[in-house]
Amino acid sequence: MRILVKGAGVAGLATAWQLYRHGFDVTISESRERAGLGASGFAGGMLAPWCERESAEEQVLALGRLAADWWEAALPGHVHRKGTLVVAAGRDAGELERFAGRTSGWEWLDEPAIAALEPDLAGRFRRALFFREEAHLDPRQALAALTASLEEARMRFLFGAGGKAGGHDRVIDCTGAARIGRLPGLRGVRGEMLVLETSEIRLSRPVRLLHPRHPIYIVPREAGRFMVGATMIESDDAGPVTARSLMELLNAAYALHPAFGEARLAETGAGIRPAYPDNLPRVSEDGETIHVNGLYRHGFLLAPAMAGEVARILLRQRQFERKAS
Ligand SMILES: Cc1cc2nc3c(=O)[nH]c(=O)nc-3n(C[C@H](O)[C@H](O)[C@H](O)COP(=O)(O)OP(=O)(O)OC[C@H]3O[C@@H](n4cnc5c(N)ncnc54)[C@H](O)[C@@H]3O)c2cc1C
Repeated sequence: MRILVKGAGVAGLATAWQLYRHGFDVTISESRERAGLGASGFAGGMLAPWCERESAEEQVLALGRLAADWWEAALPGHVHRKGTLVVAAGRDAGELERFAGRTSGWEWLDEPAIAALEPDLAGRFRRALFFREEAHLDPRQALAALTASLEEARMRFLFGAGGKAGGHDRVIDCTGAARIGRLPGLRGVRGEMLVLETSEIRLSRPVRLLHPRHPIYIVPREAGRFMVGATMIESDDAGPVTARSLMELLNAAYALHPAFGEARLAETGAGIRPAYPDNLPRVSEDGETIHVNGLYRHGFLLAPAMAGEVARILLRQRQFERKAS
């Protein structure tokens, strides 16, 4: 069975990888010049199903809890299993209690325990929640590595606007926000982010700073870089970051640690998270096409489970065709 995967974001690449593991003949077409230039390239890369449960359905936890294992198996060495630290400024201490009440898988830390985990946060927060089982990866590195290993495995990539291909038995459409207006109910949720660069502070794991209006997270990357995210705006406008969002993200980073005030602003960006009305992802069939979409704020977390669902559909079809022939 010849399969065409459209879209080389996290949904398309994870699906291609899963299908390759099951021995399918896969081609990937991507309208841009390389993989990961859609929403996936702006992601924090947090594999945080317990924290996400604060605002997400139980299904996100159920589908996402094995994501770190999937990524580690696909890309050994890319997954950092350091947990997530959740803090709040003194005046927002109630936010921590509220977050704890809506989630599981955490333990309370006091000041010395926070300092032991993240020495540069010593003395800044009296209490924190620690989600020990959570993990993170660098999305751009992970997508580049997944592309490289698929190319090594001789999978065909068709990059660029002319990257059309015919003669396939099934098409897996993983084109994310490009399907807004064409897949019923699909909408865009704009996420703005920035990257700060400083050698004045070190963090080992994602830190979430709770706030009643502007909760943010900071994800450490290599070489003194920190991804700061993210806004949640009901819009499919992928234009540059607004001044208001930039101020909010910078203020929150500064509130987490004043050393961020001296950091260099290395990058700003905005990605459009594709989302269905229930904010849950879907694998849906429409004739020969299978759509994988609606990964919302959980692309890295839930793409492995969605890829598994696509593989199950195609394995059933392959088994049926073999029996029939
Ligand atoms: C700021 C921000 C932070 C985030 N943080 C996290 C996080 O920490 N953890 C997490 O799990 N998720 C996170 N997310 C969510 C995650 O990024 C998305 O859920 C995910 O990127 C959606 O992936 P996708 O592959 O469906 O879409 P995309 O990444 O947008 O990929 C779609 C691809 O299809 C291509 N395409 C479009 N039309 C065509 C066509 N006709 N033919 C071929 N190719 C086409 C596009 O060029 C693009 O490359 C974050 C998102 C944002 C914006």
